[in-house]
Amino acid sequence: MKNDYSEKLEIILNDLKKELTPTTFLLLKKTKIVSVSPPIIEISVISEFVKVKIREALIPLLLLVVRKQFPLVESIVIHVDQEKRVVLNEKESSGESKHQSIQQNIFLKKKKIDSLPLNPRYTFANFIVGGNNQLAYAGCKSITSDLGKIYNPLFIYGGVGLGKTHLLQAIAHECHKNGYKNIIYTTSERFTNQLIHAIQTKNVEEFRDSYREVDYLIIDDIQFLIGKEKTQEELFHTFNTLYDQKKQIAISSDRPQNELKGIQERLISRFSMGLTVDIYPPDYETRFAILRNKDTAEQYNLPDEVLDFIASQKFSNIRQLEGSLIRVASYASMQGINDVTIEFAKETLKNFLPITYKKFTPDEIKTIVCEFYHIKPQMMESKKRSKDISMPRQVAIYLIREMTDYSLPVIGRYFGGRDHSTIIHSYEKIKNEIKTNLILKSDVENITKKLQYT
Ligand code: ADP
Ligand code: MG
Repeated sequence: MKNDYSEKLEIILNDLKKELTPTTFLLLKKTKIVSVSPPIIEISVISEFVKVKIREALIPLLLLVVRKQFPLVESIVIHVDQEKRVVLNEKESSGESKHQSIQQNIFLKKKKIDSLPLNPRYTFANFIVGGNNQLAYAGCKSITSDLGKIYNPLFIYGGVGLGKTHLLQAIAHECHKNGYKNIIYTTSERFTNQLIHAIQTKNVEEFRDSYREVDYLIIDDIQFLIGKEKTQEELFHTFNTLYDQKKQIAISSDRPQNELKGIQERLISRFSMGLTVDIYPPDYETRFAILRNKDTAEQYNLPDEVLDFIASQKFSNIRQLEGSLIRVASYASMQGINDVTIEFAKETLKNFLPITYKKFTPDEIKTIVCEFYHIKPQMMESKKRSKDISMPRQVAIYLIREMTDYSLPVIGRYFGGRDHSTIIHSYEKIKNEIKTNLILKSDVENITKKLQYT
């Protein structure tokens, strides 16, 4: 049967064909893409043997080829195609074992809900605790025993690449260690896809039952539910059932509850009933500790000054921070360089380092904003409130507050002596509006770029 991925699958297989011997390629012939929810792709293969072979030798190549089609994928989960297995059993079987395979079939149909596999690296032991994440860490740890009794649900939010998935999976690892079974780690995207599939195949009751039987439901990236009414409704009822039975729930989101616009109010209020913790970007010390930890674990043995150089870059995404370390280490090893220097790291990372803002004065920012909107600099200080003047003025205030360390009253002086509450109001207004007003957002980005190049 063809699914949405069939075209991409064909390209992937073609790419692989070029790289593999015909015998090895034959193993992959009936491979299918089950789902893609970055960073994970799930594929199915025809037998346990093929699965093991891929695991042993083909993952790096497979990842390379898959990423050309799905750039955000980082890991591959391999299933053995259950349908195939049953059919194979039937062919080779007679009498009793045929009966068995039918039994198995029934069992497989019923048992729909399973956890996404956990990354073995995502444990509490491998998580570096710093000022930016200590509350989140403590919160997650506290709900790995006495499920459902302490904080329910746990809601963790923070920007991309800051360790939410790592912590949620660490919870699952720890609960397994503590002897709990029936723990489901999933993403809200997968939950949605499973619901859609259940509706299409008229298995909604089964879907419902199986989710309501779990002891621990961990849902990653809840923001994906925005605008998905039907899934929200389903989750609402699942949530209530689990909550009433004192089953534990943990959720992650890339934004706080009150910014999850497009998710029903009643769900948001459920999300807020337990403990909410947030994760910030790490400071220098935490960045250094994360790099040192990774360096030791992977045995890169890079000198401290190189780790220090990478940690000093203002990465706010830990995935990129780690990516830079891996890049330096693997380039050095490919070129046979043992004594990695800061110069080498700088050269290797030259296109990957985060932009650090040049220091600007309020006047420089005002000038560029005025040029951009074609207004005279004096207008910024005037009392005029018409929109064509007040909007650029607010943008200038916003950028000055974002890009400089000037205090509110001082910024006010650059705008005809406006008081600090006016300044904060202007700042907040633009900050909120760029979330929904795409034109304004792109204006602000263009002005920022202009400033970088002056
Ligand atoms: P998110 O889900 O918030 O986007 P992830 O959990 O996927 O982020 O984290 C991105 C990468 O950074 C992962 O490889 C993770 O192991 C690593 N990471 C994040 N925070 C930490 C930390 N405090 N200590 C060690 N590794 C971390
Ligand atoms: Mg994540």
